[in-house]
Amino acid sequence: MTVHFPFDNSYARLGERFHQPILPTPVTAPKLLKLNRPLCAELGIDADALDTAEGAEILAGNRLPTGADPIAVAYAGHQFGNFVPQLGDGRAILIGEVVDRAGRRRDIQLKGSGPTAFSRSGDGRAALGPVLREYLVSEAMAALGIPTTRALAATATGEPVYRETVLPGAVLTRVASSHVRVGTFQYFAARGEEDAVRRLADHVIERHYPETEDAPHRYRALLEAVATRQAALVARWMQVGFIHGVMNTDNMSIAGETIDYGPCAFLDVYDPGTVFSLIDRQGRYAYGNQPSMASWNLARLAECLLPLLDQDHDRAVEIAQEVLGGFAAAFEAAYLDGFSAKIGLQTRQAGDADLINDLLAIMAQQKADFTLAFRQLGDAAENSDGDAQVRSLFGDPAAYDSWAVRWRERLAAEPQETSECRAAMDAVNPAVIPRNHLVEEALAAALSEDLAPFERLNEALAKPYEDRAEFADYAGVPPTPEVPYRTFCGT
Ligand code: AMP
Ligand code: MG
Ligand code: MG
Repeated sequence: MTVHFPFDNSYARLGERFHQPILPTPVTAPKLLKLNRPLCAELGIDADALDTAEGAEILAGNRLPTGADPIAVAYAGHQFGNFVPQLGDGRAILIGEVVDRAGRRRDIQLKGSGPTAFSRSGDGRAALGPVLREYLVSEAMAALGIPTTRALAATATGEPVYRETVLPGAVLTRVASSHVRVGTFQYFAARGEEDAVRRLADHVIERHYPETEDAPHRYRALLEAVATRQAALVARWMQVGFIHGVMNTDNMSIAGETIDYGPCAFLDVYDPGTVFSLIDRQGRYAYGNQPSMASWNLARLAECLLPLLDQDHDRAVEIAQEVLGGFAAAFEAAYLDGFSAKIGLQTRQAGDADLINDLLAIMAQQKADFTLAFRQLGDAAENSDGDAQVRSLFGDPAAYDSWAVRWRERLAAEPQETSECRAAMDAVNPAVIPRNHLVEEALAAALSEDLAPFERLNEALAKPYEDRAEFADYAGVPPTPEVPYRTFCGT
């Protein structure tokens, strides 16, 4: 059986300034650990053909499928506020693009497939733990309905990688709408290659924002569209308690997908100052800072686009400022809509934002679990007996009681029945998320060659909005960690 990928590699055709042609480095003993069969189907790739020794060779980078055009993509980026003019795919190789069954163009990338011209001192490899972590969390995000890169496969290499300790190596097959980042624009802008910036912008318009193609001012329209998608994306993160952890401009997808699952993690107890990443010492990418960091990154994108926005520099700056001003409004609107739905409101009234903010404030004061509090609010909306569960999540339950009085008055003004209200809340308040301790347990077992907990967690996360009795153990109050949970950049 031969695996067929329906390749059509538009990025590779942009030309040599955009990437380095490079072959993945073969590995000694490829072994397919996990294949995402539903995603194969979406992509028009035969999962049975891929679930073979030949498939493992392809997914590990030992063998190239017909039509592949392997490249490492160039990009730059601001890392924690400091500009680095050249980063690029140091341990990932884009093997090509396929147009999926729904007509959407998707990149197929091997992450951890060996060194490239962009590796600097890195080995170009990835360890099994972070590969499985990205698999779990990115697929969980997709199931939550949040735009994200996807995981097609996790493949063991049979080779060690040397980090602080010796770890088993693996390759993640990542699927993305594209891998163009804010940092890709910065790479060319910093070199003064305005024609390349324009070429990239045109590529992005054609690929991700065709609706702006014929706009009277297409590059302004592009910037607006990117800002709108980012506003919606970050609002979605906030609504599920997701902390990206490393929102550097090279990790912000131009297509508005969540990308780079290194140090990301989900909130347990609600606290806007939460930071999990060990390297984020200043808390730059804390939960509550994510909207302003997205805005900061968009300002960096706008700077790259200035020459395209207007020939007159001052006018270009004005345009950029107008567009960036719109980001805050777009984010606020998306945030309010999302949190309104989380507390069961379909209509809008004057005090709704206060009602939401007051709930979040008491959740922070009383150390309530973010996911459980919202999920259990659904029970309470249908039936005030449900209050007992919600109350138990607050250090001082009286804080919830007085808020609940106001909430019930507001709910009474909603047109829908309480049962409909509960169903609508359950559709936006997940019962299961990839909690830190669950992910860690699954990864620890995988490192002892037991993939069963990984498989089971992956299965639970595939339907996050359903209460499934068989996964009730994932939906309870998490244990309080003895030491604060810490994440590392994907290594
Ligand atoms: P990240 O922190 O994941 O956004 O990665 C930042 C940069 O470091 C990117 O250019 C990566 O390609 C590169 N990088 C990360 N890990 C490695 C590695 N093991 N080998 C080579 N390059 C790496
Ligand atoms: Mg990155
Ligand atoms: Mg990374």
